[in-house]
Amino acid sequence: MVSHSLEKMKDLDRKDPLREKRKEFSLPKGKIYLDGNSLGCLPKATVTRVNDVVTWEWGEDLITSWNKAEWINLPARVGEQIARLIGAKADEVVAADSTSVNLFKVLSAALKMQSGRTKIISEKGNFPTDLYMMQGLIEQLGGQHELVMVDDDKVLDHLDDDVAVLSLTHVNYKSGQFYDMAAITKAAQDKGIMVIWDLSHSAGALPVDLNGANADFAVGCGYKYLNGGPGAPAFLYVASRHHDKAQPPLSGWMGHAAPFEFDRDYRPADGIKRHLCGTPPVIGMSALEESLKVFDDVDMKKLRKKSVALTDLFIALVEEKCADYGFELASPREASVRGSQVSFSHKDGFAIMQALIDHGVVGDFRAPDIVRFGFTPLYVGYEDVWNAVLILEKIMKKDIWKQDKYHVKSAVT
Ligand SMILES: *Cc1c(COP(=O)(O)O)cnc(C)c1O
Repeated sequence: MVSHSLEKMKDLDRKDPLREKRKEFSLPKGKIYLDGNSLGCLPKATVTRVNDVVTWEWGEDLITSWNKAEWINLPARVGEQIARLIGAKADEVVAADSTSVNLFKVLSAALKMQSGRTKIISEKGNFPTDLYMMQGLIEQLGGQHELVMVDDDKVLDHLDDDVAVLSLTHVNYKSGQFYDMAAITKAAQDKGIMVIWDLSHSAGALPVDLNGANADFAVGCGYKYLNGGPGAPAFLYVASRHHDKAQPPLSGWMGHAAPFEFDRDYRPADGIKRHLCGTPPVIGMSALEESLKVFDDVDMKKLRKKSVALTDLFIALVEEKCADYGFELASPREASVRGSQVSFSHKDGFAIMQALIDHGVVGDFRAPDIVRFGFTPLYVGYEDVWNAVLILEKIMKKDIWKQDKYHVKSAVT
């Protein structure tokens, strides 16, 4: 067994090639933030950028900023930044709308390209909004499609000639387990099925290679590991081979071939731009653009290496120091299929998480019994992991979590 000590942690932090990245973030004082998988931390440069956008671009230059500050190109520019992180070509990604809306858009386009096939396959444990959007779209299309929700390890068994689309989230939001994107995409495509990947817990958290996997469509989130801020715009990817055929269901003017000709008839733009709908949220998208610059000099392989080290360490420490308190690992033990988060199940998980947050360790709780910890390698260090587990141990050992105040539910968990 590896022996752990505070000294060892400090040493690992000193040798960490990503250590300097932490300085680019405005981190909450006195807290260990293990929830970057829900809402990423604030990069310092983003504070200045948002202030400039509001004060100068909006306050002074007003309407001229659409050209002068190139607001109009924000969705494509941000898409280009994200493309690098997910193994896509620069012109295959745009930033727009929310992940839910983008899933609706690409699923709709994919179903249209797959006419004659009626089934959509997804996973029972997929993030609920993804399943809800599939259900809503099926309703909207008149009910001739069917959503089949299968066990996560049985996906390949359900791929047949009636399946139009396989829609999966790459890294599961609860367990952190991830799929072999290339193998599953290939198995589906061999049967003529199109695949949509939701990268909400992947983009910025681990290396992703959409082109390498020959992925058809993808969507993902801007406010988790990409640090774009609360409600940041999401993104969508359409493989270039589908650009001419993928028809957007929301035919708004920003996806028109020539929005400022104010033509009466809709004509889709070429390429990825047709998947834009309305005016981009300039302030939020500027924040996302600035935040993404943090990744400019980050080698995703190094980031992944640290992510694996942090999550391995956390599991080992919890199992060593909190062995008697009823935690069960709910994430894969095998790092090669685990994203940048670790979950444990515990029947009193809700109260334990409230007590942890009150004692400065911020993770989150996912019903019915999961305590979830995200490890963002850009700003979480080894000493943080050590301290977080010591605080968890204290909360369990001294029964702190049993206090009444830790049993009160709020609207957002
Ligand atoms: C976070 C997350 C979303 C969020 O969708 P919004 O439309 O931004 O609220 C969607 N899908 C998955 C898999 C997620 O993890």
